[in-house]
Amino acid sequence: MKGKKGRRKNKGFRVKQQYWNYKKVISRIIRVAQENRVYCVYVNPAWTSCKCPSCGHIAAGNRIDEVFLCLTCRYKCDADEAGATEILRRTYGYLMSLESINPKGVK
Ligand SMILES: [Zn+2]
Repeated sequence: MKGKKGRRKNKGFRVKQQYWNYKKVISRIIRVAQENRVYCVYVNPAWTSCKCPSCGHIAAGNRIDEVFLCLTCRYKCDADEAGATEILRRTYGYLMSLESINPKGVK
């Protein structure tokens, strides 16, 4: 369908479908983790690929397509690697907060 109205409807449908699929994938991951007795932690993905793994500086300009280059300390790596490092750091932070509440370990 061509024209302004048709494009808007299609974009709305795509956005709605994408959101639904995201929720479905997350719930499936949680269910499979529970079935296999794997501890699952949800990490807020906001700014994970824009935060420097070296100095912690956050800026949208740190990421240029697939390359991460910190505007402050000039640390350079793959953008996915920087995002994964931040997700790991947040996961450890969450688990350490549980550890401080329950010193015997996570159950
Ligand atoms: Zn940096």
